[in-house]
Amino acid sequence: MNFVLSLTSEQVLFFLDYYKNEAEPSDNTHIKRVITDNELTITVYHTNKVVFQGKTAAKHALFWQEKFGLEDFKQPIKVEMHSDYYLPSIGSDESGVGDYFGPLTVCAAYVGEEHISWLKTLKIKDSKLIKDVEIKKIAVQLIEKIPYSLLILDNEKYNQMIEKGYNAHKLKAHLHAQCHKHLTKKIGLKVPIIVDQFCTEAQYKNYTKDFKGLIMPTHFQTKAESYYLSVAVASIIARYSFITKLDQLSEKIGVPLLKGASGKVDELAKFILDTKGEKTLRKIAKVHFKTTQKATQL
Ligand code: MG
Repeated sequence: MNFVLSLTSEQVLFFLDYYKNEAEPSDNTHIKRVITDNELTITVYHTNKVVFQGKTAAKHALFWQEKFGLEDFKQPIKVEMHSDYYLPSIGSDESGVGDYFGPLTVCAAYVGEEHISWLKTLKIKDSKLIKDVEIKKIAVQLIEKIPYSLLILDNEKYNQMIEKGYNAHKLKAHLHAQCHKHLTKKIGLKVPIIVDQFCTEAQYKNYTKDFKGLIMPTHFQTKAESYYLSVAVASIIARYSFITKLDQLSEKIGVPLLKGASGKVDELAKFILDTKGEKTLRKIAKVHFKTTQKATQL
């Protein structure tokens, strides 16, 4: 069955940004981009019509309908959530990977049967689609009730590890593995472990081959926060922790630090280099990003 949404140009931009890694151009001149993901095909037309096809089409269409507050469906689409969404499991995700300033945070969260009805009242969504203020509100409730393990790799340590030869994926793999180990011990249960995929299973195995007490995840899934509530919860806590740390760093150095990596971030890095020096920069930024080089050339 097909589901069609009519979006505004602004919504299309947001939509395509969300799928920027999957969206491909098309030979069909009417089509702006096509997104294919397992059992789903999304076609974005130049008319700003977006067509969802495939097994999970309804779920995705509904998600965006709600996200954009669209009410132009005569009948609201009724869909079953992904059958494994409420699977009792440990889910893990990280935050800060693409942010020049601020730490890398990784969180694993356990969602059991006993948490589900309460979690439903919080209306958990993909952390990337929630504003910071909302993230904070939800996260403070989550960390009160949900068992989790959180690791924050501060910038100095991060920079040291990268200089030691760890690539960012290996670093993430080790942090995820540590969170799984801690949390499994904490809850005293062996449950399925789901990782929001950042590398293949084989790479993960390779990156963690020297990790003591590794518990191999059950499942690696891209955009796992849409498929597993446990990952969605972990993702919110990881993001919350990142935002909080970035705020603290900003306060400490007296300069509001920006998220992400962009021309503005290059300029800010240059400003910090000029006014506070390299030592300070190493304490607040992931200096292996191209941003550092750009800042020195500005
Ligand atoms: Mg992720």
